[in-house]
Amino acid sequence: MLILTKHSLRPGSDTSDLEVLMKDLDSLRIRPSAKVRLRDIETDGKDLVKDRAEYEQSFITLREELIELQARLYAESKQKLLVVFQAMDGGGKDGTIRSVFQGVNPQGVVVTSFKAPTALELAHDFLWRVHNAVPANGYIGVFNRSHYEDVLVVRVHKLVSENVWKPRFEMINAFEQLLTQTGTRIVKFFLHISKDEQKKRFEERINDPSKRWKFDPADLEKRKLWDDYQAAFEDMLESCSTKESPWFVIPADQNWFRDYAVCRILVETLREMKPRFPDPPDVSGVVVR
Ligand code: ATP
Ligand code: MG
Repeated sequence: MLILTKHSLRPGSDTSDLEVLMKDLDSLRIRPSAKVRLRDIETDGKDLVKDRAEYEQSFITLREELIELQARLYAESKQKLLVVFQAMDGGGKDGTIRSVFQGVNPQGVVVTSFKAPTALELAHDFLWRVHNAVPANGYIGVFNRSHYEDVLVVRVHKLVSENVWKPRFEMINAFEQLLTQTGTRIVKFFLHISKDEQKKRFEERINDPSKRWKFDPADLEKRKLWDDYQAAFEDMLESCSTKESPWFVIPADQNWFRDYAVCRILVETLREMKPRFPDPPDVSGVVVR
């Protein structure tokens, strides 16, 4: 069961304190086979915290730790981290990646954006292009959209029939199990925004000339299918959050809370991975001429 519902952690209660919330970020994790009702889950971190400035400061400190941990992961070159982002349009995938990974050595991070598949990709199984993009030893691989589109957009827009998309949940679990059993840690983030917040963001894209390039009229058609998308996301979260490859639902109406939560979870994951610099060679008696 999720603790972070709209009815808990209200301001003024003792639990809205930063320390407690930091511990409670685990409550954003979907327990295997939990029932998920997105409409009951917070989209807005604002009411959950007393002090936004404290969060912003903590975020900067956490990001420094992320940078340090990634340097070790890269140098060690023995394990890898896969980070998956999914969201409704305007959910903030691009912004999260930009701000959380700012300052991280770009040589060790590979971001892949999954668009509508090409003819060649469609001629293969749906995981073909995905497997090709998973991170190698030492790398953090970031998926901006992912194989989950193959149980989301294709389902909602009826691009394939139910007997094609439904078995994919199990195929995805088996695929992710293959990855985790061969040295990949997986963390998956659903950036959860409200329908009102999406409206605000689309309007911003339309009204702000510097953001207009991001506005896609097709997004308005998808917005009409909001409820169908939410139902598809719920199924995805219920079917594919495992102990080894968990989904987190991130309240994402407020960018600062979203960035903090994502960064915090990544840092905790990397700490558990314990990446370490390789043992240095013996330099006794070595002289550089
Ligand atoms: P932004 O959110 O910044 O606009 P984007 O990820 O939406 O970026 P676009 O080029 O606008 O990028 O859209 C990519 C489109 O590709 C999305 O509508 C997505 O649903 C679609 N897509 C991704 N994977 C698949 C897939 N497997 N099958 C069909 N459509 C897919
Ligand atoms: Mg788009």
